[in-house]
Amino acid sequence: MVIDLNAPEAIIREHRLGSVLSYRGPASELCRLSRTGGLSCHDNTFNQCGDCSAQRAMLPISQIRDGAMVNHAPIGCAGDFSLFNSQFRRGLGYRGLPANNLRALSTNLTESDMVYGGADKLARTIRLANQRFSPAAIFITTSCASGIIGDDVEQVSQEAEAELGVPIVPVYCEGFKSRIWTTGFDACYHSILRKLVKPPKVKRRNLINIMGFTNEPAFTPFLAKLGLEANYLVHQSSVEELGRMSEAAASAHMCETLGTYLARGLEQEFGVPEVPSPPPYGLDWSDRWLRAVGQITDRSDLAEKVIIEERRRIGPKLEEIRKELSGLSVYAVAGASFGHSMLAICQDLGLKVLGMTGFHHDLRFDNDYEETNSLNNAVDLIGDMPHYHVCNKQPYQLVNILGQLKPDLLMGRHEGLPVAGVKMGIPTFFASDANLMIGYDGLVYTGRMIIRVLRSRNFARNLARHSRPPYTDWWLTQDPFMFRRSGDGF
Ligand code: SF4
Repeated sequence: MVIDLNAPEAIIREHRLGSVLSYRGPASELCRLSRTGGLSCHDNTFNQCGDCSAQRAMLPISQIRDGAMVNHAPIGCAGDFSLFNSQFRRGLGYRGLPANNLRALSTNLTESDMVYGGADKLARTIRLANQRFSPAAIFITTSCASGIIGDDVEQVSQEAEAELGVPIVPVYCEGFKSRIWTTGFDACYHSILRKLVKPPKVKRRNLINIMGFTNEPAFTPFLAKLGLEANYLVHQSSVEELGRMSEAAASAHMCETLGTYLARGLEQEFGVPEVPSPPPYGLDWSDRWLRAVGQITDRSDLAEKVIIEERRRIGPKLEEIRKELSGLSVYAVAGASFGHSMLAICQDLGLKVLGMTGFHHDLRFDNDYEETNSLNNAVDLIGDMPHYHVCNKQPYQLVNILGQLKPDLLMGRHEGLPVAGVKMGIPTFFASDANLMIGYDGLVYTGRMIIRVLRSRNFARNLARHSRPPYTDWWLTQDPFMFRRSGDGF
């Protein structure tokens, strides 16, 4: 798949990757259908809640530490700004930088702007952002409203750039454009590749791009074992650092769903190779990742030594953890590829994987590497999972699935959903910091956290006793996918 950086915006995932929002069946069958086709992107006839791809674009954009963001939208689209702000402040702390507040404004489009156009308001807000924050670049994120009225954001950006002498970077992420929320990540990366990344002046053979979130810089000590450095993107990066990501020796990510668009763009435009491996979660995938990084950076012998040493070092700790967890069943709920990584960890911890709910499924990825096909990798490692679900972040479906499968443990990500497990009395591990779970130490860390969660079973039981779910007994015995639109192809 070629990324066209002459185009102002990324092609949405439904069209580019054949992504789908709904599936129920064995994981092996989804792997087969991903190869042969037969799935289309239908949603449910009833949705309890939704996510918006504009929010997923704004999250990383808002975290660029010396940029400013102008959201060209009604004020309601800025509802997540407080969340972005807390992530920004926390992320600066992780990187040892002084705390600062988010630098984001909304154009606050109103009914009258919808009739007469909002371009003047956008130009004024860009000037205000420049005056207030003196940013190294100003990012404009679009919305359903600005898309519907058809404001010429490209023209306003070019005029503002000429007037202010600051890079103005439009990010086309209208929420209605795609039903796949992760399209927002691609919109963010497309705009950065198109407007900010420059050809390398030097090649930095010991630098590895890591596409991730605002998390502990846990890749740093892990990569240091190979004498390499991590370049965390794009959260808490400066505009200058973004411009130089083409200088790295390779690109890797903590999640294929998140990172393959940017990695592909860097490989295509600047020859920065993507690490052809699953991300380093669990023993097997950590080995594979180190070998792949070692091969790209001419450190294959060192990588083999590190693998042997690391396995030996954590062996006794892992055995202890396995004794406590062996045979307990687990169900995962997360964004697709990171969920597969959690399953890889569970497998190594001796847990019995019942299945998973992923929030969407990409039939293919942007790169050409079979090694990064995360669902195939999970099935190869764990074996088939009869209870594999794709559901568009709907709690009413999750509680139904959990009620029928009754796992001993739930592992999850994205705040709103794992809490459904605790309210049902299921001990739940919330994977808030994905970086802490990487590598051999991450496996031990996750195992110990799960043991802590399981030791507080009574907490979950008590919570369940005191919570009043909004679902009837009738619903809990129904097919969780009964509201799927017909013609889903499964
Ligand atoms: S961009 Fe559209 S879907 Fe997203 S928050 Fe704004 S109005 Fe809602």
